[in-house]
Parts: sequence; C-alpha cells; structure tokens
Amino acid sequence: MTQTDQQVPQDWLEVAPRIYVRTNPGWGMNTGLVIGEERALLIDTGAGPAQAEAILAGVRQLTGLPVTAVNTHAHFDHYFGNAYLLAHGVEDIWATSDCAGLIAAEGEKQRQEVAAVEPAMAAATGAHTGIAVPNRLVDGSPTDLDLGGISVTLFHLGRGHTNHDLLVGAGDVLFAGDLVEEGADPNFGDSFPKDWVRTLGKITALEDLYTTVVPGHGKPVAMDFVTTQMNKMRTAVAVTRSAMDQASTDVTKAVPILPYGPEQSRALLTRLRTLARWKWLKQ
Ligand SMILES: [Zn+2]
Repeated sequence: MTQTDQQVPQDWLEVAPRIYVRTNPGWGMNTGLVIGEERALLIDTGAGPAQAEAILAGVRQLTGLPVTAVNTHAHFDHYFGNAYLLAHGVEDIWATSDCAGLIAAEGEKQRQEVAAVEPAMAAATGAHTGIAVPNRLVDGSPTDLDLGGISVTLFHLGRGHTNHDLLVGAGDVLFAGDLVEEGADPNFGDSFPKDWVRTLGKITALEDLYTTVVPGHGKPVAMDFVTTQMNKMRTAVAVTRSAMDQASTDVTKAVPILPYGPEQSRALLTRLRTLARWKWLKQ
C-alpha cells in the first residue's frame, strides 16, 4: 500500500499530499508532519511527555520511517515533548540557535504553565520530563532538509511572536508557528510587535511559493489571512504607540479601541512599554 492509498486517521488533517496537521489538547497547538520517502519531519512536539506520546503514536499511524523534529519557538506547548521524542528514536531536533539558547536558559521557568495539562512535566517528576534542548541549529541562512522525494526548508524571517521564530516550508504549505494565529488573538507576551508586522509582510511576499499557511494555533489559512492579520496588527501598534506618545493620556484608554480582546490588548501595551523602556535604557 502506498502512502496516498492510506486512510488518513481522524486526528490528522491532510493539508497537502504527505503533509499533515494535528491539534493537541490544552492550548490547541498544531503539530505538523511531513512524510518523505526516507524520513518524516515533525513540527512542534507538545507540552510534555503525555502529549508527545500521543503525537508519536499518531505519527506511527501514518509512517514507520525515522522522524526528525523541529521546534518553531521556545514556548512550552511547542517543545516540552522533546525529551519523550529523544527517548523514542528521534535523533535530531532543529531550532534556531536563539530558540535553543532560550530553552536551555529559561525552560525550567516555564514548567508551571503546564500544571493543569501535564502535571508530571510541571513537577519535573517521572519519565521524559527533562528540558531537552534542540541539538541541530538553524543560524542565519535557511536550511534545507531532504526527506526523500520532498525537501523542506527551515528559515527565520526576523523578529515577531518571539525573537527566534522558525518557519517550515514544505511543498506549497508553510508552517508559521505562532507568527500566525487563527481563531484567537496573536500572543504578544514575548513579541516584538513592530518587527512582527514587517515579518508578516515578508511571509505574504512568499505567496507564489506557499498557498496554505498552518498557524501555531487554529485552522490552516490562505495567504490573504496573513495579510489581514498584518494590517490589523499594524493598526493596533500605531494606535498603541500614539497613545503612549501622548503623555497626558492614560494609555490604558487605548485598550478598548484596539482590534483585540482585553487580554492581548493589554499584553501588546505592556510589551510596547517594556520595549520602549529597554530602548530608553540603552540610550
Ligand atoms: Zn508561542
């Protein structure tokens, strides 16, 4: 039986031939899978060993080939499954060097985030609950991985959701990590909002290459969704910055007029203030 003859198991969505996505419980993080003739590439590993076990079991429904993994960025729901995978045959986990550095430096601090969903990971007790740092690094130029019959490209386009977001292009599908978010507001916690707008612009410039974009959370989208997200974010950043510039104004008054819900509007405001303070401190 060839790959294309197989029934796609229910928890995977086939977004293109040999390219799949599956949504994990908890934060609704999307895990991607690209299956070549020689190996498969898994994009983002889940929030702990329980999610990683379910992900790998899902992979094994589709392929018995060796698996390489990628972490798009250093947020717990995208990489806390690394230790489980490394203990179960995955040899390489790719990320940007800044991502690997942050996981090494700050991974332990993120454990409490998963208390409700992955209690063993939160408590650092039990098997495969270590913080596992990616061992293959993308630095500067894009990296092509040949999976056999299909090649994928790992690349960084600039700061955005974090300072180190990694994108994965496979066929005409682009896995965008949390640079793109569907069904919820973008998460501004560790973001660089002004650069994020620019990075989204660079993504939309790739529309001849990629027709489907898989967001870090939510349903796969077309490139025009990314354009809409970019325009909305550009407006939100402009409104917030102008409120910050008017020293007499209470900047929190900008929150209700931002195009996001109160939580991420506040997160955007807090983040822009923090970045402005950093800039001021450096002067
Ligand atoms: Zn994230």
